[in-house]
Amino acid sequence: MDYKQYVANVPDFPEPGVLFRDISPLMANGPVYSAATDEIADYAQKLGTEMIVGPEARGFIVGCPVAYKLGVGFSPARKKGKLPRETVSVTYDLEYGQASLYMQKDAVQPGQKVLVVDDLMATGGTLAATIKLVEELGGIVVGTAFLIELTDLHGRDKIKGYDMFTLMQY
Ligand code: IMP
Repeated sequence: MDYKQYVANVPDFPEPGVLFRDISPLMANGPVYSAATDEIADYAQKLGTEMIVGPEARGFIVGCPVAYKLGVGFSPARKKGKLPRETVSVTYDLEYGQASLYMQKDAVQPGQKVLVVDDLMATGGTLAATIKLVEELGGIVVGTAFLIELTDLHGRDKIKGYDMFTLMQY
């Protein structure tokens, strides 16, 4: 399937000079959203995935239907102040400033095989941070999956040693 025709390319968002890849048209199209979910679910199944973890917020949109299809759980990695119980956290660098992600301590069981999912990988910072949280909880990251990979930013270099599946590359 040519998924790229369902991505809107938005110049100068959220700031001048950035070309934002908007996956909303893909998600709004039932058969296309379903096909993308099926491809990631096939990948996840081959790896023996037992849990899907996705960062707020588009990681939920991509990861939850995959979890449902496989009949496995989904645990979110969230921004500050969203999770009510005891958490682990990681702070990572953005282009300008820093960000933090949190997971609840019982979100992943030790030894559980986890697939980390998000809509898009740019610098790989969000992915590296999410992997760190899963591993701190004792989970085993068996793979990572995205709708989109921005190859110019070399995110893969940041997460060497982890398998990656992407439906589109720019
Ligand atoms: P990274 O941490 O630099 O890899 O950025 C990836 C995170 O930023 C993901 O959670 C994406 O949802 C978000 N992101 C960065 N650029 C875009 C874009 O062009 N479209 C959609 N999301 C983006």
